[in-house]
Amino acid sequence: MESQVDQLKVIFLPFFLAPSHQIPMVDTARLFAMHGVNVTIVNTSANALLFQKSIDRDANSGHQIKTHVLQFPSAQVGLPEGIENFNTATSLKDMVPKLFLGQSLLKKPIEQLFQDMQPDCIVSDLLHPWTVDSAAKLGVPRLVFHVTSCFSFCAETCVEQYKPHLSVNSDTEPFSLPGLPNKIEMTRFQIPDIPDEFNQIMILNKEAERRSYGAIFNSFYELEGAYEELHKINTGIKTWSVGPVSLWVNKDVSDKVERGNKEALKDHEWLNWLNAKASNSVLYVSFGTLTKLSEAQLIELAHGLEASGHQFIWVVRQKDKDQDEGWLEEFEKRVKESNKGLIIRGWAPQLLILEHPAVGGQVTHCGWNSFLEGVTAGLPMITWPIFAEQFYHEKLVTEVLKIGVAVGKKKWNRLSDKETTEVVKREDIEKALKFLMGSGEEAAEMRNRARELGNAARKAVESGGSSQSNFMGLINELKSLKSNRN
Ligand code: UDP
Repeated sequence: MESQVDQLKVIFLPFFLAPSHQIPMVDTARLFAMHGVNVTIVNTSANALLFQKSIDRDANSGHQIKTHVLQFPSAQVGLPEGIENFNTATSLKDMVPKLFLGQSLLKKPIEQLFQDMQPDCIVSDLLHPWTVDSAAKLGVPRLVFHVTSCFSFCAETCVEQYKPHLSVNSDTEPFSLPGLPNKIEMTRFQIPDIPDEFNQIMILNKEAERRSYGAIFNSFYELEGAYEELHKINTGIKTWSVGPVSLWVNKDVSDKVERGNKEALKDHEWLNWLNAKASNSVLYVSFGTLTKLSEAQLIELAHGLEASGHQFIWVVRQKDKDQDEGWLEEFEKRVKESNKGLIIRGWAPQLLILEHPAVGGQVTHCGWNSFLEGVTAGLPMITWPIFAEQFYHEKLVTEVLKIGVAVGKKKWNRLSDKETTEVVKREDIEKALKFLMGSGEEAAEMRNRARELGNAARKAVESGGSSQSNFMGLINELKSLKSNRN
C-alpha cells in the first residue's frame, strides 16, 4: 500500500456543457482511481448526478474517488435550475451563450480549488485552455484530455496549415488533405464551417495544448496509431492513447446502464425485444446527445428504415413541446406490430445495446464516443455525420478502416441550422441499410474487419495491450515527476 505522501493526487476538469465530453473523462478518472490514484472530478450539480452512482460504487469498493460539486450560476445567467448542458437546453439559440457564460463564471472557484487541493496533475478538457497557466502556477503537469480522435485532430490541423480547400473551385469539388498517412479526400461542404470567434477560441485551445505536458486520447494504437504519431509531431508534446476507457472500467451492467444517466432504467422492453432476435439481425440507429433531426429528416429516416426490411432500434430524442409527432406514433405502432422495429425515446442504454449479440450494425452520426463504442462491439457502420469533426470520422470509417458505408450526407451544418439543413432521402437510406445488412461480399468483408477491430480493442486494454502499457507508463511518469518535485 502506497503512503499518502507518495500517492498521486489528480484533479479532472471536464467541459461541463456536453455529456459526450464528460462521459469519457469520468470513465478515465475512474480508471486512474482503479490504479490507486486519489481522484477528484470537478462538476456542476445537475451534471454530477449523471455519474454519481458509479463514483459512489467505486468509492464504496475502496477506490479514492470523489466529485467536487460546484453550483452552476443559473440565476445569475438567466437559466432555469438544472439546465447545465446542451443536451437539456430547450432552446439552443437562447441558452448556449448563457451556458458558456455560466461555465466561465466558475473559473475563479475552480482556480481556488486547485490552490486548496495542490494536486500532482490536472487533467483538463481541451476546451479549458486557461488550466495550462493554473498548472504552471502550481508547478505540476497539465494533461489535455481529448474527447475526439487523433485522426480528426490531424485532419483539422492539415486544413488549417495547408488550406487545401482554397485550391478548388466549388464546394463540391474534392481536394486531398496533404501530409496525412492515408489519402483522404474531402469537399468544402464537409469542412467545419465555424464562426470566426469560435475559430479564435480553438486557436487558443491548441496553443494551450502545445504548452501542456501531454495529451490523453480515448483511443488505441491499433485503431489510429499513425495519427497518434502525427499528433506528437504536430504538437511537440507527449501523447497517451489509453482507450477504449469504457471497455476497461464499465464492467458491470449497472455501470453501463447508469453511465451518463441519472435515472435507473426501469423499462427492459428493449432487452426482451433483442433477446428474441437472431444474431446480427438488428441495426442500432442513434445520433448522440446533441443532434435533433428536422421533422422532414425524421420522416425520410422512418421510411428508409421501413423500406429496407431490416430490423432496427431507433433512438429518438425527446420531442420539443410544440412538435406534433402524430405520424411518428403511428409509425411506432406499425413497426411494433410487425415486430420490425423498436423506438426508444430519450436516453438509451447504448453500451448494452451495442454489445447485444442480436445487433449487427450501427447507423451513427460519427460522434467519437459512439464510433468507439461501435468499434468496441465489433460492428460495421452506416455513417451519417452532422457537425463538429464528424465528417472526418466518416472518412476514418469508410476510407481508412473500411468498416462502413456513408449514407450520403453531403454538407456540414450547425446544430441550430434545422431549417436549412439538407435532408437525406429515403431511397439513399434504404440503399445503405440494405448494403450493410445484406449478403454482399463487400459488406461481409466490412463486417470481418469490424470484428477484428473489436478484438483489437479488447486486447488493447488487457494486460500487455497497447493502451494498458501506455496507461501504466503514464502513471509511472506522473509518479516520477512527483518524486522529483518532492
Ligand atoms: N449515449 C447513450 N444513450 C443515448 C445517447 C447517447 O448512452 O441515448 C451516450 C453514448 O453511448 C456516447 C455519448 O452518449 O457515449 C454520445 O457521445 P458522442 O461522442 O457519440 O456524440 P455527441 O453526443 O457528442 O454528439
